[in-house]
Amino acid sequence: MSETLSLVLESIRTLDDMVLAFQSEDKCSQLVESMVWPKGRICPACGYKHSISLADQDSGRGRLRPGLYQCSNSHCRFQFTVTTRTPLHATKLPLQIWLKAMWLILQSDKGLSSVRLAEALGVSQPTAWRMGHAIRLLTAQEHLLDGTVETDHFYLGGNPPKKRNVPPPGRGRKGKKKTAKTPILSMVQRPQSTEVGSPAGHARASVVADLSAVEASRVFGQELDLQANLMSDDWTAFAALGHNFSDHQTVNHSKDEYVRGAVHINSSEGFSSRVRRTVSGVFHHISTAHADLYMHEIGFRWSQRVVKGQAVRQSRNGKKKLRTIWSRVPPALQIAKLLRNAVGRQMRRTQQGGISVRSEIAVFG
Ligand SMILES: [Zn+2]
Repeated sequence: MSETLSLVLESIRTLDDMVLAFQSEDKCSQLVESMVWPKGRICPACGYKHSISLADQDSGRGRLRPGLYQCSNSHCRFQFTVTTRTPLHATKLPLQIWLKAMWLILQSDKGLSSVRLAEALGVSQPTAWRMGHAIRLLTAQEHLLDGTVETDHFYLGGNPPKKRNVPPPGRGRKGKKKTAKTPILSMVQRPQSTEVGSPAGHARASVVADLSAVEASRVFGQELDLQANLMSDDWTAFAALGHNFSDHQTVNHSKDEYVRGAVHINSSEGFSSRVRRTVSGVFHHISTAHADLYMHEIGFRWSQRVVKGQAVRQSRNGKKKLRTIWSRVPPALQIAKLLRNAVGRQMRRTQQGGISVRSEIAVFG
C-alpha cells in the first residue's frame, strides 16, 4: 500500500471522517482502485499488467462508463472494472455504499445484522444480507497458521425443535447424552511478541460434522502448518493428531489443569467464546451453509488488533496478573486489507435470491 493511501485511510477515524471521505463516487472509485490494485491495474482474466481506459470512448451505443478498462494483451482484450471477478462483481450499488458498509461492519465490535445494515445504508434487507456475505467472503484468509497454535472445540446453537413422535437424541439409550448442536473447531495463533505495535495472531473457526479425529484432521490440513507447535486440551481427536506437528502439548482439563507454564489454550478459549457471543448476540442464527463466512469475519476481526501495552489486572480470585492491552487497527485500514484479496473471489446470485460462492482464490498481483 502506498504511503499516501495509508495516511488517507488512517485519518478516517470517526463517523464524520467516514462520511466525508466516502461522499463522492469519483473519490470512492479512486480509493477502491488503489486498494484492489496497489501496484497498478492488473487484468483479472489473464494477469497482464497493461490495460487502457475505455472511459468516455464511443461504443457506437453511447459513451462507455467511467472505470472501464481493456486488457492490452492481444490474446485477451478482456474488458473489466475494479469490481470484475470480486465479490462485488456486477454490483448495481455505488461504491460509496460498499465502502460505507465495510466501514460500518469493521467498525462495530462484533458485526452488524443485515437488518441494522439495511437501516443504516437505506438499502433493502436482502441486499444488505448479500452485501454482508460479500464482505465476509473478503475477510477469508488463506495462509496456514504457524508458530504456536492453540486449538479448542465447542458447540454452537441450540438443539433443534422437538418433533412429535421423534424422541430427542440420547433419550432411552445408555451412555452419554448426544447433542444435536453444531460442533466447531477453533484455532488461534499466539502473537509472536508482546511489544507495543505487534499484531495479534490469526484465528480460524470451522464447522465440523462431528468431533472425530477424521474431521479434526481435515480442518487442520486446511488451516495449520505442520511446523506449528500445537497446544490443546486432552480431547482424544487432538491426542491422535498431535504427532503430525513439530510439537504438541496438552493441558489436562479433565483433571482440572488449565495452565502449565506456557502451556495453555486460553487464547483459543477466548476466541471460542467470542464466536459464541457474536453468533448469539448479533446474528442470532446462522445457517450451516454460510457458517464458514461468519467464521471468516469473526477470525478476521480477531486478527485486526495490535498490542497497546501491558497492565496489571486483578482476576476474580484476587490474583494479580499481567495482561496484554490491545487496540484495534482503524477500520478504513482494514478495508484496504480486504480489497487486496478481492480479485478471484466471486459470488453468484442464485435464482432463489440466495448466494453461491465461487472462490478461485486471488492469483494475480
Ligand atoms: Zn487480460
